[in-house]
Amino acid sequence: MASQSTSTPDDFNIFYSLEESNNETSQLYQGLTGLRNLGNTCYMNAVLQCLCSISPLVEYFLSGKYVTALHKENGEVATAFAYLMADMWLGEFECISPEVFRSVIGDLCPAFTKKTQQDAQEFLIYVLNELHEALKKSCKRRCYGNTSTSREDRGTGSETSIITQLFEGQLSYDITCLACQTTTDKNEVFTVLSLPIPSESACSLQDCLECFFQQDTLTWNNQIHCSFCGTKQDAAVKANIGKAPKMVIFHLKRFDYQGSYKRKLGTNIYYPLSNLDLSPYIYPLFRKNPKYNLCAVVNHFGYLDGGHYTAFCKHTLSQNWYSFDDAQVSEIPQASVQSAAAYLLFYSCKAFSVPTKPHKY
Ligand SMILES: [Zn+2]
Repeated sequence: MASQSTSTPDDFNIFYSLEESNNETSQLYQGLTGLRNLGNTCYMNAVLQCLCSISPLVEYFLSGKYVTALHKENGEVATAFAYLMADMWLGEFECISPEVFRSVIGDLCPAFTKKTQQDAQEFLIYVLNELHEALKKSCKRRCYGNTSTSREDRGTGSETSIITQLFEGQLSYDITCLACQTTTDKNEVFTVLSLPIPSESACSLQDCLECFFQQDTLTWNNQIHCSFCGTKQDAAVKANIGKAPKMVIFHLKRFDYQGSYKRKLGTNIYYPLSNLDLSPYIYPLFRKNPKYNLCAVVNHFGYLDGGHYTAFCKHTLSQNWYSFDDAQVSEIPQASVQSAAAYLLFYSCKAFSVPTKPHKY
């Protein structure tokens, strides 16, 4: 079989038979499957529900496309994820148990099989990373074939996957030596942006973004080595988005650690449900004025080690919002999506199509 990146006739057949097997009743519940709590696994369930609401990701697994990209030697997590997404998406049951997925991921990272609460953000990053490792392919064309500037070469990895295609963006830091005013730049890829919270009572997501992207001064231990001066110097650093991802995930840094002192910030953070404008933070050269719409939220209630996680996800089929509290799935009014418990926010710059429709490629 010729290897190609577009969907093959085989993929198409899997897709089609999948669609035919759904009757009208189960279609109503597609993507609305609860997940049983296996003992403090609400952090896992909330993240999985958010991922299951991202249609292009679900489609990639449902269509069987992942099979061609899969590295067999470390493909267990991706395979278990594919089966779980299919079970969650098809909606045959009101509620299923993510037992197999948890045991596969627990073999690699035992913290996730312990019956203790884990951080949803750490779990999300772990899952995205495992999926990337299992599905990546090196991309020679992108590295040699285009006339990219050195800025892009250094920052962007040469390995792509469905994960980098959807979630990976690039931050570009302008670093100016305060002694000689020479500016250098440094690039860094990201899949989740961890945003500081500048208020204890209430602020907006835009305030958090302003705070993240404001110019910072590096002094004392954080000084940079300036190659022009030849010594360590104070420096000014300013971050910009070099490449904006299709899906941007914000992690609101509610957990504040200062030495042994830990606390949770209960700040009410107002975030827009639609038309989030990231262009003020994007390098003018790369600015395409994308507007982002909220598609999923992970909430954290309670305090640090205990607490409870739930998810709010926008349902692609009905365009309604649903709350996923482990096994419990219920429709919620749009006004309830704004929550003081929000911990992770998933935004997309493109509207999703329903994953069961065959591709038009
Ligand atoms: Zn200098």
